[in-house]
Amino acid sequence: MPNRIWRRGVIIGAGIGGLAAARAVSPYLEQVTVLERDDLPNEPAPRTGTPQDRHIHGLLPGGFEALDRLFPNFRADLERAGAVKARGGRDVWMERAGFDPFPQRDLGYDMFGLSRPLLEHICRRRLAQEFNVELRPCSRVTELVASPDQGAVVGVSFKGEGGRIETIAADLVVDASGRAAPTLALLAKVGHAKPEVLEIGIDLAYSTALFEIPDDARSQWVGIMHLPNVPDSTRAGFLFPIENHRWLVALAGMHGVVPPSDIEGFLAFARTLRTPTLYDAIKGAHIVGNIARYSFPGSVRHRFDKLERFPSGLIPIADSICRFNPIFGQGMSVAAQEAVALGRLLERRLELSDPLDGLAQAFLSSIQQLLESPWAIAETDFAYVQTRGARPPDLARRLRRAAALIQLAAQDEAVHKVVFEVRSLLKPHSALREPWLESRVRAVVESVGGN
Ligand SMILES: Cc1cc2nc3c(=O)[nH]c(=O)nc-3n(C[C@H](O)[C@H](O)[C@H](O)COP(=O)(O)OP(=O)(O)OC[C@H]3O[C@@H](n4cnc5c(N)ncnc54)[C@H](O)[C@@H]3O)c2cc1C
Repeated sequence: MPNRIWRRGVIIGAGIGGLAAARAVSPYLEQVTVLERDDLPNEPAPRTGTPQDRHIHGLLPGGFEALDRLFPNFRADLERAGAVKARGGRDVWMERAGFDPFPQRDLGYDMFGLSRPLLEHICRRRLAQEFNVELRPCSRVTELVASPDQGAVVGVSFKGEGGRIETIAADLVVDASGRAAPTLALLAKVGHAKPEVLEIGIDLAYSTALFEIPDDARSQWVGIMHLPNVPDSTRAGFLFPIENHRWLVALAGMHGVVPPSDIEGFLAFARTLRTPTLYDAIKGAHIVGNIARYSFPGSVRHRFDKLERFPSGLIPIADSICRFNPIFGQGMSVAAQEAVALGRLLERRLELSDPLDGLAQAFLSSIQQLLESPWAIAETDFAYVQTRGARPPDLARRLRRAAALIQLAAQDEAVHKVVFEVRSLLKPHSALREPWLESRVRAVVESVGGN
């Protein structure tokens, strides 16, 4: 059992980032309190604090691996709860322009289909087994408390049940509120600089419907991913199996293309996709409940790591640092990987006389490598001329390389596997630049006159 180096840690938010962070820091603190503004349900159910939870939430293999590290034998929890197992590369019918469908191959990884509320429910149940972790629902954080010299965060004020404002002291505060509002308000209050904010404006619109899986459903695939024909179209569609023999089906568009929220309009939009695969799957299926919508203005990255000063004892995490276009399914996996990184860092700092000194800076710089790949994927949205934000200067070259990689992946299982592993956050982005692959990518790019 590691030493407990501090007395109390407070986590703001019981979303995926907060639940994963609570587990990661719990070995190093006497007590961990998770403050969540919502009333937390005892069963898997949507809640107002996470309006995205009615939409498809795919867990990438890299995110599964991180959650399994935090909650050992997580696979058994998923299977017991009814998550649907699929083999990566083989069981999801992938359609991308020029490859309708993309070759199906078993790339050696299990993936799990389940709803976001069920995933949170499983994590909450596992956390409840930690003797020093307390989940406090109906507790909206109103303010972070700074030390008298304003150099550190020493507590948290929140509005609890009955509307009373309470303040608790904390040695470590993790901001997993999703928007970093408590952190940004504190920086302003103590007169610190604001972080640079990178944005990729895409105006993504999602409509999601739940269907009973028809008895005569095709067995060639377990799920469908229909990616848009970039840069001519933003229309995409996803079909994802979840617990209780249901499909979650999402239709998406960007830059003013908005999928409808009535079933007739939903089916009509599905018919406008390049292929009839998704429409044929759902046209006769029975819809359950209403169609949910979500508007996502764009990917956002707070460069807290570049600030010269950052309050000691405060760690922003997950969406509070970086939110990604959800189509790529990266947010929860990045959240879980960051939590693992935080736990590792705390373990390494056990021997220091003041483990808190420089912890935030060390954490924020250590995760930049982890963010490289998902942010590079989010930046591919700059392929659309309407996308707002600072375009990478080498965008055209990057897009040519990405197209070459897809072409090679279609032809060759080894390339397919490494592209899958990078996109699944199992391997760093640098794996795509290894010499054996680099020379092949260059040859394809040069063959079409690029560099
Ligand atoms: C439409 C859509 C689809 C998505 N699909 C996927 C997907 O397929 N795969 C994937 O990995 N990711 C997906 N994501 C991203 C994913 O939802 C987020 O990346 C992930 O939830 C981030 O976790 P988080 O803990 O940072 O934030 P959240 O999960 O949003 O949790 C934040 C929590 O903080 C609470 N909170 C906020 N303010 C306070 C306060 N002041 N006091 C107390 N509590 C507070 C909220 O109530 C909430 O519970 C999708 C996102 C969207 C919008």
